[in-house]
Amino acid sequence: MDVHPKSGGLFKKMKDESRVEEERGVVRAADGLYVHVPFCLSRCPYCHFYSTVDPAFIPDWAAAVEREAVFYRSLFTRFDTIYFGGGTPSLLPTNIPGRLLEVFRRLFSIDSAAEITLEANPGDLTPESLQGFKGLGINRISLGVQSLDDRDLRFLKRRHTAAQALEAVEGIRGAGFKNLSLDLIYGIPGQTAETWQETLEKAARLQPEHLSCYELTAEPGTVLGRAVRTGGVGLPGENERRDFFLQTSSFLAARGYEHYEVSNFARGTVHYARHNQKYWDHRRYLGLGPSAHSFDGRRRWWNARTLKSYLERLGQGRLPAGGEETLTPEQRRLEVLLLGFRTRSGVALKDLSLNREREKVLTALEENGKIIRQQDRMIPTPAGFLVADRLPLFFC
Ligand code: SF4
Repeated sequence: MDVHPKSGGLFKKMKDESRVEEERGVVRAADGLYVHVPFCLSRCPYCHFYSTVDPAFIPDWAAAVEREAVFYRSLFTRFDTIYFGGGTPSLLPTNIPGRLLEVFRRLFSIDSAAEITLEANPGDLTPESLQGFKGLGINRISLGVQSLDDRDLRFLKRRHTAAQALEAVEGIRGAGFKNLSLDLIYGIPGQTAETWQETLEKAARLQPEHLSCYELTAEPGTVLGRAVRTGGVGLPGENERRDFFLQTSSFLAARGYEHYEVSNFARGTVHYARHNQKYWDHRRYLGLGPSAHSFDGRRRWWNARTLKSYLERLGQGRLPAGGEETLTPEQRRLEVLLLGFRTRSGVALKDLSLNREREKVLTALEENGKIIRQQDRMIPTPAGFLVADRLPLFFC
């Protein structure tokens, strides 16, 4: 299969730059590959990710992802992480990710020890599907547990119960997966410090290698966003949210989980989410599928959001571009700070462009326990994570 891009400027420029680097013998670190699977069985009221509830389009979507991948075979050559996210990738019949992985291995060099993650919902997994995914080389499951309290799950309108989530974990372990991440949500109306503690305790007993704990937020354009705006639902206030966050951090630290990113915890560096780490480290990644984002180190571009326009454009032999931006050096520096202050790797002192005023701010942040200095890096503490989005503003 070969597709001739008709997408003009952006693609050509990227291709030229890539060729120049090749000719100069520049050896790049491996990149990350994200595949957006835009299908769900139902829409959760708080979710702002793009998905449709019509699985009839799965074969068309998969064929389009193959076509899209072909466009990028000279711009991205090597990957050491692949992430099937969504949407609900666990809805896919195993032959679909199987076929896509085959295509990726043919078009690109995929490291033999690549981290290959599949996001899954508890109700979808069967012993057969798990064996199938494992057989394809998928070696990490990110399971959308969200809560181990049925009352919370009903509020979130999830399709599974707490008991089904526990069964799913058992099934995942039974199928031999050694790398499991659980997604949990706090700040759910009606949730208390005690009920959240119970969810955390039950989750820690399952000994996942990794946990992502997100605060429930009212995103614009979602059912929950509208309900909060019109007063139908109230979310916890700032103090309560801070308490949930610090409770989570200290509870998981006591259970041996390193709080290495604002919302992410791992049993040691070996279990950091290698794919997501590329986003936080400002490294290159390619995103395929509707609404997926890509980044080549300076330029970011994103695909058409809806499945319909994604399929249409690829059907016409065009890249399904939705938009692009090229970062100025100052924007790039700001992003490095924004992302750096969200992780335990922190920010290099040289990126803070220190002057007398900023030195004073830095000292105050250290004295207030928001950041600690480790050699030439400034590392946020859990209290610093709480204000991570505001920290870069002191250095702009
Ligand atoms: S939260 Fe997950 S399952 Fe629910 S609508 Fe969003 S992507 Fe689909």
